[in-house]
Amino acid sequence: MHYDVLIIGQGISGTFLSHCLLKSNLSFLIIDDARPNAASRASSGVINPITGRRLVKTWMIEELMAYAIKSYRQIGEDLGIECIQETKMIDFFPTPQIRDAFLSRYEADKTFLNLPENENNLRGYFNYDFGYGEIRPVYLINIQPLISSFRKKMFAAGKLLEANFKATKLKVEEHKISYNDISADKLVFCDGMESFTNPWFKNLPFAPNKGEALIIEAKDFYAEDVFKKGISIVPLKNNLFWVGSTYEWKFTNDQPSKTFCKKTETLLNQWLKAPFKIISHFASVRPATLERRPFVGFHPVYKNIGILNGMGTKGCSLAPYFAHQLVQNIINRSPIQREADVLRFEKMLRRS
Ligand SMILES: Cc1cc2nc3c(=O)[nH]c(=O)nc-3n(C[C@H](O)[C@H](O)[C@H](O)COP(=O)(O)OP(=O)(O)OC[C@H]3O[C@@H](n4cnc5c(N)ncnc54)[C@H](O)[C@@H]3O)c2cc1C
Repeated sequence: MHYDVLIIGQGISGTFLSHCLLKSNLSFLIIDDARPNAASRASSGVINPITGRRLVKTWMIEELMAYAIKSYRQIGEDLGIECIQETKMIDFFPTPQIRDAFLSRYEADKTFLNLPENENNLRGYFNYDFGYGEIRPVYLINIQPLISSFRKKMFAAGKLLEANFKATKLKVEEHKISYNDISADKLVFCDGMESFTNPWFKNLPFAPNKGEALIIEAKDFYAEDVFKKGISIVPLKNNLFWVGSTYEWKFTNDQPSKTFCKKTETLLNQWLKAPFKIISHFASVRPATLERRPFVGFHPVYKNIGILNGMGTKGCSLAPYFAHQLVQNIINRSPIQREADVLRFEKMLRRS
């Protein structure tokens, strides 16, 4: 069977790439092996416009957020599920210095920052000493139901093959690729961490980043906002909450560690007033990049082999926007944003 595009991987990147191709009436097949520790399966699904201790706006956030809202609503309508919800992040100040930093940032630029009317109104739920600020709007993506319902729909339509893709079996010709009995005009890797060892793209400056998280159950807890104090608490459904995460650049394995579990449990015991129970604990590796920008576009030598990857800590906001750019590039060769275009590493890629 011949397709316009063969896609390897159905995390958040492969999901949006296929959704855009579907909307553009291009044919595709996804090959995905549903590995349980893929980054998208560990994600809390938060789109937070503000980053770091200096509380700066994240790269391109206005454009990315506007595009993400539209895309998650659209895919949610197509799947008959709610995929995006607006909320706010309650940012507890761990020290007086961080409180001062928030206040001076707020005075300088109020976009996305806010101060509560009454700093004491969360005392029934949390122990805290130095008050809190608010980041708003923040969006919560219902990422696990989104990925699994999209998968079911694609599988039922014969557009998804549940299998492990083996790069050694791929035949690349000038205008066509073939893989077993499948052929396509183009192939796009949306395979997350697997691209680090991919024969065509392994020379790219990836910088894997490990993150761990817990799912807790807390029955008497207030579940509307996202809460942050070093770690974040993100509401899921049915009294469940995602709690995490670490950002480790140096690690020896991708497994959950006892140290994280113990440390997080201690922190929650000091911070939360409601009792909670740990339901699960998991770890994953974010496909991050050295200069913290995604990798989007086609290989300079193997021009029908492409990539949509390097989403790092921000897959939920980057994937919809750059999937759209890549599909526009496929259809009418429109340029990919310079900072994300994989051709910025042309020399490295020519060596692969
Ligand atoms: C703990 C944690 C929390 C996070 N929280 C957030 C958050 O709140 N907000 C946010 O925006 N981002 C968050 N992220 C980052 C986000 O998860 C990633 O940026 C994003 O999931 C990357 O998606 P992806 O589709 O590119 O890759 P992946 O999710 O890794 O998907 C790759 C897919 O390819 C498949 N695959 C790989 N190799 C093969 C092969 N050879 N054959 C077949 N299939 C293959 C895998 O099974 C998988 O389904 C978090 C990450 C972690 C680890």
